[in-house]
Order: sequence, then structure tokens, then C-alpha cells
Amino acid sequence: AEIQKFQLRKLKETVAWVYERVPFYRQKLDEKGVKPNSIKSLEDIARLSFTVKNDLRDNYPFGLCAVPLTEVVRVHASSGTTGKPITGPYTADDLNDWTDCMARNLWAAGVRPDDIAQNAYGHGLFTGGLGFHQGLSRIGCTLVPTSSGLTERQITLMKDFGATALFCTPSYALTIAERAEELKVDIRTLPLRVGVFGAEPWSTAMRLEIEERMGIKAHEAYGLTELCGPGVGFDCVAQDGLHINEDHFLAEIIDPQTYEVLPLGEKGELVFTSLQRRAMPMLRYRTKDITRLRREKCACGRTFIKMDKIFGRSDDMLIISGVNVFPSQIESLLLEIPEVEPQYRLVVRKKGYLDQLTVQVEGKKEIYEAGPEKRLEVAAKVSGHIKGNMGIGVDVEIVEAKFINRSEGKALRVVDERPKQFR
Ligand code: ADP
Ligand code: ZN
Repeated sequence: AEIQKFQLRKLKETVAWVYERVPFYRQKLDEKGVKPNSIKSLEDIARLSFTVKNDLRDNYPFGLCAVPLTEVVRVHASSGTTGKPITGPYTADDLNDWTDCMARNLWAAGVRPDDIAQNAYGHGLFTGGLGFHQGLSRIGCTLVPTSSGLTERQITLMKDFGATALFCTPSYALTIAERAEELKVDIRTLPLRVGVFGAEPWSTAMRLEIEERMGIKAHEAYGLTELCGPGVGFDCVAQDGLHINEDHFLAEIIDPQTYEVLPLGEKGELVFTSLQRRAMPMLRYRTKDITRLRREKCACGRTFIKMDKIFGRSDDMLIISGVNVFPSQIESLLLEIPEVEPQYRLVVRKKGYLDQLTVQVEGKKEIYEAGPEKRLEVAAKVSGHIKGNMGIGVDVEIVEAKFINRSEGKALRVVDERPKQFR
């Protein structure tokens, strides 16, 4: 109840802040007949319009800024996974809040001042590198800012410095694990004990795979440039869903087709309103990320609302034989087949009027080398497993080792080969 009282006060302040300072928001609020003092309860948020990525693109780079640039001390930009980048400006207070959010995230994962922290998120415009950097500095870890890439050197430094904690995308963690195995370095015998991974969807099966291969606990960070970067949501010792820093971000779930707000517990698109940002506040930003919210007593003792692990982003959702398919569902199933590596991509093609999905997955070395018959047998096993669990028919190609590009940041899972007009 106290959190909600706090949220209402901050929501009112945020609406007033943007109404006075950002023409884009003022116009949207006027269209809806909403004045800052019309917000009387948290439910009144439903009276505000949504903000979408295109609004940010149309106002690129600083059109949605609520403060003069002299008060902006940092600008990040999104990685542009789905098109033209968008900007994220911060005031000094915004940076401070973001740092707090990241420190909470890391602390919940068990990161402590005596950790030797290898930060292998890309450092630069991407919010991952510097976001983790700030949070780790606030905790007071021994920080090693390796940034991403140069995988062999990552492993050498991990060994030489005795890193106890690793930070990067889950797909890069897997790349590091694989390279270490090739170099005959057993990460499980090194001091490394924990990782905080995020910035892209990954299945629970992938988390278990990384934990097993590195001999660590793998925790999670969720966030987006539009809100600050990582530090919006984070998991805890329970490893069952992510807490949302809800004193900073008010979460809603909507039906992405009807825009109707869904009750707690229903799956849909995550929408966020920032409650304390000054440089670029967000009113009802549609993330395109699909999940569910739950308010429950968590084993860790935190009371912040929780969301399920992100199923995927709606941009990556495929519709195969009328069934909605997220790459992470296929990923979970592939990880259950011992004959293949967790390295895959999904290729979408047009077959007549229908979308046809081809799953390309690397066979284990001995499987691939056993010849075409064995490969066909394993391909049939994989497609049978997918059919049995998801009810969809897919083509499966068992490809050779390293056919799939190794990720150093966000992995590319979906390749769309359909003619433009069908995408
Ligand atoms: P881009 O849209 O260019 O990738 P960002 O770097 O801001 O830009 O990425 C934010 C997006 O990354 C989120 O909206 C979400 O789709 C994805 N993401 C971030 N963290 C996670 C996570 N822990 N699990 C799943 N998806 C995540
Ligand atoms: Zn918890």
C-alpha cells in the first residue's frame, strides 16, 4: 500500500513534468482532455495515451527531452535490433537513480564488494556496459571492464584475475563457455561463482545449461534504453520471475491487439510508465515484450511486484500454422535433445501462402560426422519433439559446428527470408 501511495505521488509529478515541458506529451494529454490534476488514482493511468517506439524515432534525437541539454550529462542509444536507434538522455539525478536500480539488481544476485567483477557487456552507446559498470562501482566490487569480444582474452583474464562474477548477454556467456572448453579451460574449477545475464530473451533451459557449463548461479537483468537500460527488472535467489523496481517504473500488461489493460496474472504486452525520470520520462511505453505480472510473497522477502521471465518480443513472434511461436520456446525444446548443441537460428520462408519455419541447429560433433543418415535421423527426432510439444510442423536442418555465428552481444535468432510484402 505504501508503494502504491508513493507511485501515485510520482505519477502525478511525472505527468505535470512532461505536460509543462514536452510539447509531444502536452498535445497527447490535451487530446484526451487530461490535465496534470486529473490524475487522482493509479487507475487514472488508463486515461493516458500509449507511447511507442515510433514516437521516439519521430522525435529523434532530443524531441522528447524534458530538460535543456545543459542538464543532460549522458546520452545512450539503443542497439537498434529492430531499426533506427533511439536515444536515452539522463540528468545527473537520472544517472544516480539508474545506478541504484542496477546495484539492487546485482545485490539481489548475491554480488558483493569482495567480488572480482568481469563486465563483458559491450561498453559504449549500448546501456549494458555502463549500466553494469555503475551498479558494480556502487557496490564497490573489484571491477574489470573487459567489454565484449576478444573471447580468448576474456578467458585468460578470468583465470589470471580470479574473476568471481561475470556480466554479459546469455548468448555471449555461452560463447565464452564453449571457447573455454575448446581451450581446455574448465571454468567450473575457476573461482567464478555467479553471473548476471540479460539484454535478450533466453529460456530457463538456457539458464540451466549456462549454470551447468560454468558451474555458477546465473541471474538475470531486464531493461530497455527507453527507461534507463538494465535495472528495470531483476531476479533474486528464488530464480522464479523478476522483481520490478516499481518505485521507478509502473508496470501494466495490455492486450496488444485491443490495448485493453489485462488483470494481474494474464499474459500480454508489458507497458511501463517511468515515475522518477527527468530528462526523458516515458508515459505508458509499449515495450513489445510479452510476459505476465504477479503480486506474491517472494521467498527472498522482497515485496516488489514480479513478472515472469520474458517469453519474447512480439517483433520476434512467428505465426506458424496459426500458432504463435516465440524463439525461446523452440530453444527450450532444442536443449532437451542431447544430440544437438544449443546453437540455433530460425529461418522463416514462404511456402505457397503459408509461412514455413526451418530450424537450423548444430549437431554435436560426433553426430554431424556420423554422416547424412544420422543427421536425418536426429533432424526427425527434433521435428518430432517440436511437433509433439507445440503442435507445429517445422523443417529441421542439422548443421555443422560453427555454422551459426557466435554471439558477442545480442544473438540473432530469427532470419526472415520472406518477400518484403509478407513480413
Ligand atoms: P533494442 O530494442 O535495440 O534491442 P535495447 O538494448 O534497449 O534495444 O533492448 C531492450 C530490449 O531487450 C527489451 O525490450 C527486451 O526485448 C530485451 N531484453 C532486455 N533484457 C531482457 C531479458 N532479461 N530477457 C528478455 N529480453 C530482454
Ligand atoms: Zn524475490
